[in-house]
Amino acid sequence: MKIAVLPGDGIGTEIVAEAVRVLDVLDLQFEMESALVGGAAYEAHGHPLPDATLKLAKEADAVLFGAVGDWKYDKLDRPLRPEQAILGLRKNLGLFANFRPAICYEQLVGASSLKPELIAGLDILIIRELTGDIYFGQPRGKRVATDGHFPGAEEAFDTMRYSKPEIERIARVAFEAARKRSKRVTSVDKANVLETFQFWKDVVTEVHKDYPDVELDHMYVDNAAMQLVKAPKKFDVVVTGNMFGDILSDEAAMLTGSIGMLPSASLNSNKQGLYEPSHGSAPDIAGQGVANPLATILSAAMMLRFSLDQAEAADRIESAVKSVLASGLRTADIWSEGTTKVGTREMGDAVVAAITKKTITG
Ligand code: NAD
Repeated sequence: MKIAVLPGDGIGTEIVAEAVRVLDVLDLQFEMESALVGGAAYEAHGHPLPDATLKLAKEADAVLFGAVGDWKYDKLDRPLRPEQAILGLRKNLGLFANFRPAICYEQLVGASSLKPELIAGLDILIIRELTGDIYFGQPRGKRVATDGHFPGAEEAFDTMRYSKPEIERIARVAFEAARKRSKRVTSVDKANVLETFQFWKDVVTEVHKDYPDVELDHMYVDNAAMQLVKAPKKFDVVVTGNMFGDILSDEAAMLTGSIGMLPSASLNSNKQGLYEPSHGSAPDIAGQGVANPLATILSAAMMLRFSLDQAEAADRIESAVKSVLASGLRTADIWSEGTTKVGTREMGDAVVAAITKKTITG
């Protein structure tokens, strides 16, 4: 088994280093190889996703990714911006299914802006379609309008589209995932206004016939955004398109209080995946050794479970993270009165120690 390690920019290098230490201590049989990506790759090779990095990612069973981006690259042409590396990896590896769990750890209930009773025990899985929708639909661009409210004016446009196979495969991913959880799926759409999402709803309903043991309900995206803050625990697996999933998964992430805690996985149909924290490169705290590495460490656990068939090792990481939180250690983003503030490295040390201790004591 081979893991491509792509730390990227900003806090990416700091948090990925901790995840790699955690993987090392598990003593599993796999090879890890690192490469530059994002702004770091642009500086060294003039492109955010150099051919060698893409080749390494394609050949690996899984990619452990940190984060890319910095405001200093905002003026670059779009194809050269660090964030294009993520889009390039998604496209080239065919990563169409994005898993974003939003879990509220018992010890962090107070970090949420919602009342504890609404959030305690929260465990939602948002499954976002990642390679279609208005983000990739053609045609797109700028032109002079020939109709609409202001003919003759400059306008910009994008195209929302989904093909039947694209919807079918993400629906299957959601139903399969639900079978391993509480067997409930909410499909989020905007069927009342958009043709694309009426089609989405029809296709999801059709695929559902193959999963009679799973309960399916449909919800409009505006209502889903409200219900996520009103009664988030009503949800279990949520499946939706690329744009709605982008927005709702960030909303769900914030329910739990800190984006520094949330892992994510993007998978293709061969179980090959890219695993990364849900947050960005946090240039505001980069280099200070204060970033929370837990989202990346938990992403490594997802990688072991989904791409590398090492569910037991994944459990060990997840229970080590829980025991470290229970011991009261917190990075600055999740710190509260009465807990002990630690830096990135110390948090990594604590997870490594918790795994080693459990290994010794059995
Ligand atoms: P961000 O997620 O990087 O940071 C938002 C806020 O959360 C900041 O205050 C930051 O300090 C804090 N934060 C994020 N991760 C943290 C962690 N692990 N521990 C503690 N605090 C943490 O989002 P942003 O500031 O909007 O974007 C910064 C850069 O990251 C931009 O260039 C953006 O394009 C890029 N970005 C990259 C990805 C990715 O690589 N997948 C995702 C989102 C944003």
